[in-house]
Amino acid sequence: MSAPVIQGWCPGALKPMESGDGWVVRIRAQGGRLEGAALGRIAELARVHGNGLIDLSARSNLQIRGVTPETHPALIDGLRALGLIDEDAGREARRNILVTPYWCEGDGTQALAAELATALADGPDLPGKFGFALDTGPVPVLAGASADIRLERGAAGLMLRADGALQGLPVTQDTAVPAMMALARWFVASGGVRDGRGRMAAHLARVELPAEFRTHTVELPEPICEKPGPTAGGVLVGLAFGQIEADTLATLAATVQAVRLTPWRMLLLEGLTAAPDLPGLIHDPTDPMLRVVACTGAPGCPQAQQSTRVLAAGLAPHVPAGQVLHVSGCAKGCAHPRPADWVLTATITGFDLIAGGRAADIPLRRGLDPQALIADPLLLTGRPHAPLL
Ligand code: SF4
Repeated sequence: MSAPVIQGWCPGALKPMESGDGWVVRIRAQGGRLEGAALGRIAELARVHGNGLIDLSARSNLQIRGVTPETHPALIDGLRALGLIDEDAGREARRNILVTPYWCEGDGTQALAAELATALADGPDLPGKFGFALDTGPVPVLAGASADIRLERGAAGLMLRADGALQGLPVTQDTAVPAMMALARWFVASGGVRDGRGRMAAHLARVELPAEFRTHTVELPEPICEKPGPTAGGVLVGLAFGQIEADTLATLAATVQAVRLTPWRMLLLEGLTAAPDLPGLIHDPTDPMLRVVACTGAPGCPQAQQSTRVLAAGLAPHVPAGQVLHVSGCAKGCAHPRPADWVLTATITGFDLIAGGRAADIPLRRGLDPQALIADPLLLTGRPHAPLL
């Protein structure tokens, strides 16, 4: 096969992204679900052809880390044998579909996912981060997840909604995918793609959505905050920092018939009522590690100014329940693009502290030392008698 192109910020399997620990190979599971046998094989491939670390992304994709130019071809062959490789990198990039993990047999969600994937194969070229959400379980749960074209199930049935719009278009099982594709084509034709980038909500701030896509006012779903534990169809288990080791994944795969991938750094283990007790898995909904978010940081990401996860884990017990601390390796803030209660953004001189904002926002304090922060978390506030953080 020809050498893959290594660039951009949305890696695929055929178009991996270079990182500080090798290439990142992203797997887009069909319908957001993997059988246990396939999951076990992915764990084996990650161990043999990567560095044994696997991420679960905020778009419900698995990412095999530490792949090299030498191991990439064999990895792709292994993934292709599992039916996880698209015909070419363009089709792979367009198949950016987030599926509710709470779909039920007979609700049409998996059929919609398959139909949309087929339609996108011959669809227009879309920006790398442009994606679709099939939020068609009993109630919408993906409002807080990144997507540009959303299909949501409400009391009145299926509603197509452009991200950022307050109105939508009622559709049926038969008309949903054609309408989603029509909206994607409008996005491209109306100038939504600039230098290969572009998102729907930003585009709608500049360009009016055609009336045909906004016939009905919609009640916008609230973002939800899921926790580990029993849920519809199985049990949710958290992954610390959204990462799992290949050995743990292999053991997990042997205990479950199938997993559904979620955008919440959790796996839904189909049909189980309790998750196996394995290293790195989070079972307790009150676990402090659920209150911290941290990107790969140094040395895994070449943009990172500092390591992030040791600091985040050290501070986790001090984050009050109900709050989120985001530790970011640079101002890009990949791990949590939305505002967080507290953000520590790495710079060349230490960490900048931001309250109630994003990683690139103006800090309250600058140059905080990570070792000193772990030793004395009160340094975050600068007020010795203030509550921690
Ligand atoms: S936020 Fe910066 S350091 Fe962290 S993964 Fe993104 S680019 Fe890398």
